[in-house]
Amino acid sequence: MSDITVGLNCPSCGGAITIVEGESVVNCTYCGSTLYVEGDKGVLTIAFKNKMSESTAINAAQAWWRKGLKARDLRKTGAVTEVYPIYLPFWSIGTRVAGWVCGYEERTRSDSKGHTTNERIYKEEMVLMDLSYSEIACDPGDLGLRSLRNFSGESSFEDLDMIPTFESTTSRDDANAHARDDAISRGRSAAHVPHVTFENLHTLIKKTSIIYYPVWVVRYNYHDRMYILTVDGVTGQVLSGRAPGDPLFQSLAVTAGTSIGGLVAAGGVLVTIAAESEVGIAGVIFGVILLAATYYFFRHGSEIIEGDFADRQKKLDLNQVGQIGKMIGGAYR
Ligand SMILES: [Zn+2]
Repeated sequence: MSDITVGLNCPSCGGAITIVEGESVVNCTYCGSTLYVEGDKGVLTIAFKNKMSESTAINAAQAWWRKGLKARDLRKTGAVTEVYPIYLPFWSIGTRVAGWVCGYEERTRSDSKGHTTNERIYKEEMVLMDLSYSEIACDPGDLGLRSLRNFSGESSFEDLDMIPTFESTTSRDDANAHARDDAISRGRSAAHVPHVTFENLHTLIKKTSIIYYPVWVVRYNYHDRMYILTVDGVTGQVLSGRAPGDPLFQSLAVTAGTSIGGLVAAGGVLVTIAAESEVGIAGVIFGVILLAATYYFFRHGSEIIEGDFADRQKKLDLNQVGQIGKMIGGAYR
């Protein structure tokens, strides 16, 4: 029997772990966490103890219903139909990014005579950062969870027999590659060089482990529609969720939105009458497009979404409707 220590670190505290060959359960000598060694490559695995119960998960859901611009009768009308805990595996990867980012920043100066000159300020920034990256290691369906927010908890494998557990199904190499990409882009943005002309950034994977994390899934019903949310089994926070929006806020926003659209359309009509210009006709067309965009948004946008759901990016938000308005305004001034 020989001891192996090859670059394995405790997923909880980062301490170096010594594993006796042939054994799959280890206790961290620094923090006492119980760890499993998974697979041939010896990925250290930790599970966090679930601290929530059915009632605390429901309480967290109901508290979340009251926050923000969600439907005001959600608390009265919303009915929880299903509550259950699951264990989800996440890759937890410690990386280091080091190197240089060179480039310049452009500044415009104007002197007393009103002459403006563009000035380039050259920059050479050193990058040295230790980062942590996480991503979900299975496909549990769309729960709005892609990464971990909390990396600490009491370790325990006791619950794993009691609570349904998703096996990790994604590859370690893929996860490491994503962690490297993440480290490069975070290193680059930390350098704050607006125009990059040269960069030389290296990444190092310091540790790769799997964290089994307890999550409560809460399904509920509101006016015959089903919604879902998830509660962190360690901290009790709502991690992700979908909820109906508030109809009052919605109708106010529709009015504001259609007013912008209406004004642009009306402006177009006036210009058309006054000058019989093509610009005026274009204005009418753009006004109608804006109205349609606003309608499209509020037809589907009556939902409040928190977390990394796959369809979240597709939604137009109020800001975008405003941007369209500005774009049209800018083009025809
Ligand atoms: Zn430890």
